[in-house]
Amino acid sequence: MDGSILVISAPSGAGKSTLIQRLLAADSRLKFSVSYTTRPPRPGEVQGVDYHFIRHEDFLRLKESGGLVEWVEQFGHFYGTGVDWVRRTVAAGADALLDLEPRGARAIKDLFPEAVLIFILPPSLEELERRLRIRGGLSPRELAQRLAQGREELRQASWYDYLVVNDDLAQAEAALRAIITAARLRSRLVWPHLAPRFQV
Ligand code: ADP
Ligand code: 5GP
Repeated sequence: MDGSILVISAPSGAGKSTLIQRLLAADSRLKFSVSYTTRPPRPGEVQGVDYHFIRHEDFLRLKESGGLVEWVEQFGHFYGTGVDWVRRTVAAGADALLDLEPRGARAIKDLFPEAVLIFILPPSLEELERRLRIRGGLSPRELAQRLAQGREELRQASWYDYLVVNDDLAQAEAALRAIITAARLRSRLVWPHLAPRFQV
């Protein structure tokens, strides 16, 4: 495999989507893994760009036929990562960026130990709640549910490879870029390209 698998997780509202958009816009070697989901699209979400929005029965068929490298059920909906896309992307030398909750991140690490796992944290729980509120679109019940889930997910941060606190957006983006650069410089990936140059 020539490319890297990069997994990013964060409690809802930490700024993960904002940061991922910024990374993708400036780095053509970074490709976003478009997950399959049975949840309905939110306003502004685009089929095939944000998710492959599919019916419940189609999701189950895909899962049963081995088309997903990992999958989870949460908030009553299924989410899963397409196996072919990940393998093709890294085989082509690009880096696959996966936006997954912690169970999915763990599954990817078990299957691909060389995957780089990054967890984005908010500066505080208060700020997480503030960001969720200003983003809007959530009922009070959904807001409470996401905050509770977020606290659960924060417990998982310790076993990730890298932790990035998204306090200042530009600094968090720079930290993520540094991690991606380091991932690309791993000898396993670089040595096969360098060895012929030195005839070793
Ligand atoms: P997530 O994808 O993690 O749920 P979003 O990227 O949608 O979160 O961000 C949640 C809200 O917080 C958005 O309104 C976004 O503009 C805002 N936000 C993101 N990063 C920062 C930051 N570093 N400082 C202040 N607000 C931020
Ligand atoms: P949302 O419904 O807000 O888009 O996503 C909810 C959660 O599902 C987020 O934490 C996101 O990272 C996670 N998620 C999205 N796609 C996948 C996937 O394919 N697999 C897993 N395990 N989690 C996913």
